[in-house]
Amino acid sequence: IGRHGDLEPVGFDYKGLHFDQDSFHVFMGLCAADTKENVEAIFKAMNEAGVRTARMGAYKPRTSPYDFQGHGRECLPWLFELAGKYNIAIIAMEVLSPHHIDEIWEELEKAGHPTGVMLQIGTRNAQNFELLKAVGNQQEFPVLYKRGMGLTIEESLNACEYIASEGNHNIIFCLRGVRTHLGDPHRNLVDFGHVPVIKRLTRLPVCVDPSHPIGSRVAAPDGIKDIYHVAAQGVISGANMVLVEFHPDPHRALCDGPQALFLEEIPCFLDYINRAREAY
Ligand code: PEP
Ligand code: MN
Repeated sequence: IGRHGDLEPVGFDYKGLHFDQDSFHVFMGLCAADTKENVEAIFKAMNEAGVRTARMGAYKPRTSPYDFQGHGRECLPWLFELAGKYNIAIIAMEVLSPHHIDEIWEELEKAGHPTGVMLQIGTRNAQNFELLKAVGNQQEFPVLYKRGMGLTIEESLNACEYIASEGNHNIIFCLRGVRTHLGDPHRNLVDFGHVPVIKRLTRLPVCVDPSHPIGSRVAAPDGIKDIYHVAAQGVISGANMVLVEFHPDPHRALCDGPQALFLEEIPCFLDYINRAREAY
């Protein structure tokens, strides 16, 4: 990832899109694919807004074993078909185990590759070295690595090094907030001030995820939701990607409903983010 060699920025292309320390993409979608109707509603709304990069969980790591765990492989055929129908180029999708990578590949093959997948390593697997080696040991899919919420920067960068050292350099580093012992009005402490730090220490494009550290649709007295405020802070700091959760019916979402934005907000959110990008 550049820490052991020269630090000239490098990038990569995937499914016709370019990723480097100057590029900019917004990945939006559901936390977890729940129903076909909901997935179709978000893809349709994204298509109308001209967004071709999605996030969508099939395998979900949940704190409680009794909570919805994602539909897993079963949803991939209709998920990929809908992505093709609405011209979604890439879906960021978390994997929890090396065999999920094979399942995704097999289902993409069966479907005729109507879309691409970016393999997401969630914060809970930020030091799962066998999984890191597995996503590094293939060249097909780029990797979105989410910072460990209880790890030092150095430990998270070493985790990325595990991916890169296996041969896959197509990595994006995602800041998603950190856990502290100080108490926090949000779910996690927002760490978007580290965007320039990661850009300086690595050659990786940097993503910010405003949804998970904030954890709710709470708004400031100015009426602007905290998720918008911090997303803009990340973008103004030079983030190359924003990962954000939307849902057609957040009150009935099976995962992370309280932080999901409404589909009607998509144009407004994009406008807000694009103005932050211009300010950067
Ligand atoms: C997610 O993106 O839905 C997710 C589970 O994120 P994190 O691993 O950052 O909690
Ligand atoms: Mn989520």
